[in-house]
Amino acid sequence: MEILSTNAALKAVIMDVAEVAGHIWVKGWGERNGGNITVRLTEFATPEWASMPALSDPIAIGCELPHLKGHYFYAKGTQKRMRDLARDPMANGSVIRICDDCAHYEIIADSAVMPTSELPSHLMVQNYLLESGSRYKATLHTHPIQLVAMSHLPHFKDSETMTHTLWSMIPETLAFAPLGIGWVPYEVPGSLELAKATLAKIHDYDVAMWEKHGVFAVGQDIMDAFDQVDVLNKAADIYMCARNMDGEPEGLTDKDMKDVQDIFHLPTSRPC
Ligand SMILES: [Zn+2]
Repeated sequence: MEILSTNAALKAVIMDVAEVAGHIWVKGWGERNGGNITVRLTEFATPEWASMPALSDPIAIGCELPHLKGHYFYAKGTQKRMRDLARDPMANGSVIRICDDCAHYEIIADSAVMPTSELPSHLMVQNYLLESGSRYKATLHTHPIQLVAMSHLPHFKDSETMTHTLWSMIPETLAFAPLGIGWVPYEVPGSLELAKATLAKIHDYDVAMWEKHGVFAVGQDIMDAFDQVDVLNKAADIYMCARNMDGEPEGLTDKDMKDVQDIFHLPTSRPC
């Protein structure tokens, strides 16, 4: 039986994933099979999920993640396209169940679609979110053009400089991405090293910038994670437009930004 067919709340969450995948394709952030998504689904699990037969052998995560025990996730499939996921999320992703050893997972629905090669980063961050009691449930990796382009420029290779520049483009960047963007030096895609470096930045930021590659974002849901990236990439786009007009953009002043922080009581750490 298709897992969405009897669970309207679950279906709504998965259709949000499909909608975001469509946005990513239209924005040019998801070429071919680029980018990946996980969403924690445990709150939608019925007692039957625990006894659903595995559609795969147990697959090693690559590390032990003790807070994932008993949890379920939707994961985009490896080699699957965002544009295909947008019209058929269960043919281009799957629901996985974390095994009791917290070091393996099994695919349980709807078919044996192997999860993304970036699963270590996603699950390591999901483990941290559970450990810290966060309500955040979604993780997103994508290739936003302007942010990736910025990550090639030597003077942006630290969290503070990149965040300050992006915040200074329009007040909404600071208002809607108040934790900024954390810098992750280049690592091999799909590696545990990349996963560990990403996790270190997600402690303090909602979005991590993977040098010369893409971004990794967390959110309360997948729309929230997408919005974080969209807001920051818009600021990067404005920066590049201004540079193309033959000058360094002036940017909001430090006082302008402090006023936004104070008036809107912006958080300086993840609020939940
Ligand atoms: Zn990538």
